[in-house]
Amino acid sequence: MAEATEKPLNFIEQIIEDDLAAGKNDGRVLTRFPPEPNGYLHIGHAKSICLNFGVAQKYGGKTNLRFDDTNPVTEETEYVESIKADVKWLGFDWAEELYASDYFDQLYEFALKLIKKGLAYVDDSTSEEMAAMKGTPTVAGINSPYRERTIEENLDLFVRMKNGEFAEGTRVLRAKINMASTNMLMRDPIIYRIKFATHHRTGDKWCIYPMYDFAHGQSDSIEQITHSICTLEFVPHRELYDWCIESLEIFPSKQYEFARLNLSYAITSKRKLLQLVNENFVTGWDDPRMPTISGMRRRGYTPEAIREFCDRIGIAKRDNLIDVSLLEFCVREHLNKVATRVMAVLDPIKVVITNYPEGQIEELTAENNPEDHESGSRIMPFSREILIEKEDFMENPTKKYFRLGPGLMVRLKHAYIIKCDDIVKDENGEIIELHCSYIENSRSGNDTSGINVKGTIHWVSEAQAVDAEVRLYDRLFKVEDPSREDGDFKEYLNPESLQVITAKVEPALKNATLDTPYQFLRKGYFCLDPDSTADALVFNKTVGLKDTWAKEAGK
Ligand code: ATP
Ligand code: MG
Repeated sequence: MAEATEKPLNFIEQIIEDDLAAGKNDGRVLTRFPPEPNGYLHIGHAKSICLNFGVAQKYGGKTNLRFDDTNPVTEETEYVESIKADVKWLGFDWAEELYASDYFDQLYEFALKLIKKGLAYVDDSTSEEMAAMKGTPTVAGINSPYRERTIEENLDLFVRMKNGEFAEGTRVLRAKINMASTNMLMRDPIIYRIKFATHHRTGDKWCIYPMYDFAHGQSDSIEQITHSICTLEFVPHRELYDWCIESLEIFPSKQYEFARLNLSYAITSKRKLLQLVNENFVTGWDDPRMPTISGMRRRGYTPEAIREFCDRIGIAKRDNLIDVSLLEFCVREHLNKVATRVMAVLDPIKVVITNYPEGQIEELTAENNPEDHESGSRIMPFSREILIEKEDFMENPTKKYFRLGPGLMVRLKHAYIIKCDDIVKDENGEIIELHCSYIENSRSGNDTSGINVKGTIHWVSEAQAVDAEVRLYDRLFKVEDPSREDGDFKEYLNPESLQVITAKVEPALKNATLDTPYQFLRKGYFCLDPDSTADALVFNKTVGLKDTWAKEAGK
């Protein structure tokens, strides 16, 4: 057992501890995870989930799941359901399931309050005119000609916007802040716009919708969120976040920002992932090559491994690219503890054990997981005709080759030592089978042969072995950082990211289940795919036993 080591606090934890020490929020910690339901969650969201739920748990607090569904155009109920399933699968429970759209009435009241305080106005300018008046980061903007409308006039127009009297794009409500602010977002930002769109929850009740900056902080405040954690692109929004809360005199939630997680050889943007789905570059959001939570689940990644990964990378204040090998390392490390060991031959060659009685079938017992002695055991048939991996035989073996070759001996895992006596070739010189002899008293667990062999290989008994489709995955992209490359990110897709083969697997796998991780001995970790049926097994390769990419890079 590893010793529990005291980990230094990350900066969010430090802020929370300081707040608790100062007696803020009556010692309460309430965070939220606020996805927009416009796609499936990805590894970046997993990071945000682990952070938000993790710190709340650590300090005896709670976390709300809030759907940030203020944009009626892109949101769908399918996404809401997938998001809930993914958060649960990752192992977290939310205190309340909430929707920003539930606050539309309240947000509308907030807008009226701002107008009444002389802090918001209806602007009739076109979007081009507004853009022209906005200025640049170095040049102050100019005031809109509608900026000095009276409170009465603004109230009247805003109510009529809500009542559907004006066409889309003809009027907006803007906060009256400062057209000369060095922060462009403070230059009278739009807070409400007209949109005749059906919302997935409120239907056609509204034809005006609040902008992100007039919904997010207010939602935080309504729920009395104490620490509103978001990613760095919201740093410039913080000033507006605080301005709205102060102007509306509502609960002072506070926003804190950390760096987004970017993963090498992957894309973490729902918009781009949606393109891959819609344009059939992948089979769906849950394609095992996708960095989505549902894709990783189907690939055989475990929640424990993903949480460990999120924990190990910590939280940064500056954007960086995390090596996907670290995620794979965490997956491998967890699967090593929990995977059921089985034998599967991915690229078979036949071996006939010439001195083994014809028709005899021996039932060998094998432990399911040597890392976990409570995992039980299973029965494996052994017979005269078996299959081994082609790459475990070499016709002209090099000096340090400890597997099978002419005259060489090797141990068959859980079974006997065999020696290769003969190679059978077809008319083209292709090897079709190997003739071997076995050492009768060398059976694993009861070996009295006194023979020492260096190599052990896996095998299956040919007659009882079962066919299985095996999907081998490589990275979805050929380049480390596809979003940073020139041109369309889709040009950098790896055309060899999926290879489908037919393997021969041991018969115990006929009873494979979706929630059991497997280690195909010497080959890697695999899981059953939902496409599998009773008579057509399908497995996904989760990850190899070693980091083959690191080896290749070091060549
Ligand atoms: P995308 O660009 O993929 O659509 P998003 O930020 O628009 O991402 P949201 O649904 O708004 O997606 O995100 C919900 C929460 O997850 C937000 O708090 C957001 O900051 C966080 N989040 C999104 N992507 C990442 C990431 N790559 N790393 C860390 N947190 C992220
Ligand atoms: Mg977003």
